[in-house]
Amino acid sequence: MNPELLQNADIFRARVLDWYHQFGRKDLPWQQNVNPYRVWISEIMLQQTQVSTVIPYFERFMARFPSVQALADSPVDDVLQHWSGLGYYARARNLHKAACVVDEVFAGEFPRNVDTLTTLPGIGRSTAGAIASISMGIAAPILDGNVKRVLARLHAIEGWPGDKKVADRLWQIAEGYSMAEQNRADTREYTQAMMDLGATLCTRSKPACTVCPLVDGCKAVAEGNPTAYPHSKPKKDKPVKATWMLMLQHKGELLLYRRPDQGIWGGLWSFPEFGSEDALQQHLALQGLKPRQQTSLEPFRHTFSHYHLDIHPIHITLSRKLPSVMEGLDQVWYNESQIEQLGLAAPIKKLIQILHHANPVKQ
Ligand code: SF4
Repeated sequence: MNPELLQNADIFRARVLDWYHQFGRKDLPWQQNVNPYRVWISEIMLQQTQVSTVIPYFERFMARFPSVQALADSPVDDVLQHWSGLGYYARARNLHKAACVVDEVFAGEFPRNVDTLTTLPGIGRSTAGAIASISMGIAAPILDGNVKRVLARLHAIEGWPGDKKVADRLWQIAEGYSMAEQNRADTREYTQAMMDLGATLCTRSKPACTVCPLVDGCKAVAEGNPTAYPHSKPKKDKPVKATWMLMLQHKGELLLYRRPDQGIWGGLWSFPEFGSEDALQQHLALQGLKPRQQTSLEPFRHTFSHYHLDIHPIHITLSRKLPSVMEGLDQVWYNESQIEQLGLAAPIKKLIQILHHANPVKQ
């Protein structure tokens, strides 16, 4: 392990640049006749889209809109038509809007300042950094998806890069390396090199660590699992719903009903459910049910793929069955032996077991 490699920006850049000179991509269409306009168009096209798909689009786009003025002067429908197939059409609409701003507000010249570049529609900090560093030689960091991955692995950065704190940390690291020296000639190559490292070596699922120029400093490799970084987006907290289940018991029988085919536990047998304890009590009163004994059992949580369900079981024993709770097509009194043969949802089975354990159902 060589910790100095990550800490010393000069050593880091030298390694990255050496690799780039030997193995980096240098003949992509937007790497020829480099100017802010061409870099900008390529950067926007490359968001969410692979290089091989972008190349023919980029060439057709440049043939039709060779300059920012040509783009600004064209109808937006024409721009959309040349974007057709790349998806995310807001990108094309923003390109047209931004071209109009560059043309009208900045007299057709891209501003030579990262912060001002980010005021243009559709240009974020990383795209602004790429335009500034690649086409203007300004030492500005970039942090596209590829670079995020490389830096998160090198420094074993915990957390999801979409999280502000994690993103700030990655920007800080990126800035430290890119600002290391104001060698304008290297700035462009360094940015290209970092993009290439992520795109060709430090790939999402199969990083080629054995041939990576940074492997001896890479903390993710030292930990033994480079693909563990960057961390994925945390799963959203599931919403919590609650239900009150009425476990009516008469002697050795429990009242069950068959759930509708649609929805959770479709077609399975369950206890009648209510949205609140009050609703359950009102139901009892309306049905004229006089509990001989009523017990609230311990509530518990059942988790579905998209929400948690907090189940509040209320166990009520009746001294006699009333006609209002007699059997129907979807409502039946079951005794313990029959219950074993029924299609029951897991929490219902669990409830019956709890009840049986606490108070064995007598035949
Ligand atoms: S050593 Fe592997 S994980 Fe680390 S930066 Fe290089 S390719 Fe990525």
